[in-house]
Amino acid sequence: MKDRILRRLTDECKQERLRAAEIAEARREAAFGVPAVSEAQRAYVKALHSVLLKGGSPDNDELRVLKRSYEEVLAKYGYKESDFEPAPPCPICGGKGITPDGKVCACIRDAFICELGVACDVDPSGFCLDDFDESSVADKVQARALKKVYGFMSDYAAKFPSVTRRVLVLSGKTGTGKTYLASALARTLINKGYGALFMSAVRFNSLMLKCHTSPYPERDRILYDVMHADMLIIDDLGSEPHYKNVTCEYLLLILEERSAKGLSTVITTNLTAEEILSAYNERIYSRMCDKRAALFLTFGGNDLRLA
Ligand SMILES: [Zn+2]
Repeated sequence: MKDRILRRLTDECKQERLRAAEIAEARREAAFGVPAVSEAQRAYVKALHSVLLKGGSPDNDELRVLKRSYEEVLAKYGYKESDFEPAPPCPICGGKGITPDGKVCACIRDAFICELGVACDVDPSGFCLDDFDESSVADKVQARALKKVYGFMSDYAAKFPSVTRRVLVLSGKTGTGKTYLASALARTLINKGYGALFMSAVRFNSLMLKCHTSPYPERDRILYDVMHADMLIIDDLGSEPHYKNVTCEYLLLILEERSAKGLSTVITTNLTAEEILSAYNERIYSRMCDKRAALFLTFGGNDLRLA
């Protein structure tokens, strides 16, 4: 996902450099199509070469006068010398978009983050983890609980991707703030340049069905982003319809493959651990609830537990 966006942006940088060079060249041709301009330039350049050939200094009165008169003629026709040179490229990356040490250059960073947000289905300009304000929560007990979980997530995002628990489950009833927290986590990571793909469980399940019913050569492409995004967030697991041979099978496949690649997956759900076991299967339950690799956070309004 990131590679795809970077490739497009760096291609655009290249096209822009070529376009700028073409525009400058077209301006030069138009300006020197005016006889007065080309004559003034020729007179100045001829005198300059003659001085240089004789080993003289270009810093003399005659040349200054000729140069000024050339510039005045240019100005008379609405040009200046700098019009004929394309704007200098970014001094850090030379207009390539990537710095010599392989990082996204500051000159395309905003465009990169914006496009990453579009690809991840998350608006990067919204609420991030560090924006959490305890005083905005009226219930003081709940405010303390949320402060604890936002603090935990901020640490997780700061350490990312060097985190030990690759699966985070945010479990709790509707309205307890799970999706909001997961979105804030995604946004925080996207702003750091990571791909944090946010998907409802319904959309995820539909995508898996599409994959399952597509010819084999197309399946890798369909699964590519959910398989390779730095973080995948599946929102509201349990709300999706169950398709035979698809829902459980692909969810397990994605969880296992992503863990094997060392990639993180976050799941929000209204289901408890026991309900996950009965709605899915033992292996999915174990992936989501195994304390060595997963963290199961229970949101209970004012009763928040980090298990
Ligand atoms: Zn640059």
